[in-house]
Amino acid sequence: MLEVRNLSVSYGQHRALDNAAIRLDRGEIVVILGANGAGKSTLLKAISGICEGKVVGDVMLGGTDLTQLSADRIVEEGIALVPEGRGVFGELTVRENLTLGAYSRRARDEEAANLERVYRLFPKLMERGGQVVRTMSGGEQQMVAIGRAMMSNPQVLTLDEPSLGLSPLLCKELFANLKLVRNLGIGILLVEQNARQSLAIADRGYLLENAHIIHEDSAASLRNDPAVKAAYLGAGTQPVKVAIAASMAPKFEVRPRSQQTRSADAVLGRSVADLVAQAASRDAQAVAQRRGHVADATLPDMAAHGDRLTAALREIENAAVRARRKTSQLK
Ligand code: ATP
Repeated sequence: MLEVRNLSVSYGQHRALDNAAIRLDRGEIVVILGANGAGKSTLLKAISGICEGKVVGDVMLGGTDLTQLSADRIVEEGIALVPEGRGVFGELTVRENLTLGAYSRRARDEEAANLERVYRLFPKLMERGGQVVRTMSGGEQQMVAIGRAMMSNPQVLTLDEPSLGLSPLLCKELFANLKLVRNLGIGILLVEQNARQSLAIADRGYLLENAHIIHEDSAASLRNDPAVKAAYLGAGTQPVKVAIAASMAPKFEVRPRSQQTRSADAVLGRSVADLVAQAASRDAQAVAQRRGHVADATLPDMAAHGDRLTAALREIENAAVRARRKTSQLK
């Protein structure tokens, strides 16, 4: 279904990915394992069309060449990315975040059916439809991120280190959820440092080292490979990043419960542009409050999400600007 051939990415003089080749079939989980800086995120970003570097090579999905397509066209073709750090709108409710996931033309007509499918998969998201996302646990937020990606009706779901920062129990739940997604026939391309649990649910895996794919095998064989055991399944491979992530996590103030939830009905009948405008202004205000000054910015603090989402979110930022202009014209 997805076939990547001779894919290379350079950031200036630095070659971050060198002639990578991978494939992913329908209903298959494939994991990419590699150390920090190996090029894993670069691979996912290049596939999703949001890579800041110079990309050459072929990314084919069911015979369609995605290499020259923009990020939003790639979503239209059926590839969804759950970026590192999740990329959810913390100031919006679960239901609003899910609605935003259906912005592509591919998904718009099927929005109700997709929402039903996401709710069937993760009933908790229906129960919590009105909860403001930043008040949720890390595991629940990850579920929202996956649910939102599923709202674009993807053939392929790509995830960048979804287990990062989650407790062992929540990791277990996350990987169980990914199996449910796979059972729907969706191909899952998973970048992970949690080799043990990702190999436990994966069908196949690739090892990425210093920009090169150095090995490919079934997940079962990789689990028993002495070199893989030593490099990825030994003690101390995962906690470094988790510790860093935990120390950098913003400390949010907890609001009274009455302010945490809003009626799910409140979002019905509103356009994606309205929701984005609202997300933009609420996120900006929350960021400003956390920094101790009053918000005058109108777009979310993209730096808080890192640079990974910039290109993918450009489209909805523009929608937010248009929505704000329209609102001010109406006043
Ligand atoms: P990690 O697990 O730490 O996220 P990774 O395997 O995902 O690592 P990448 O983020 O793909 O690695 O980075 C691969 C290399 O490319 C690194 O050396 C990184 O510094 C470099 N790199 C990534 N993004 C950029 C960028 N926008 N500009 C310049 N260099 C970059």
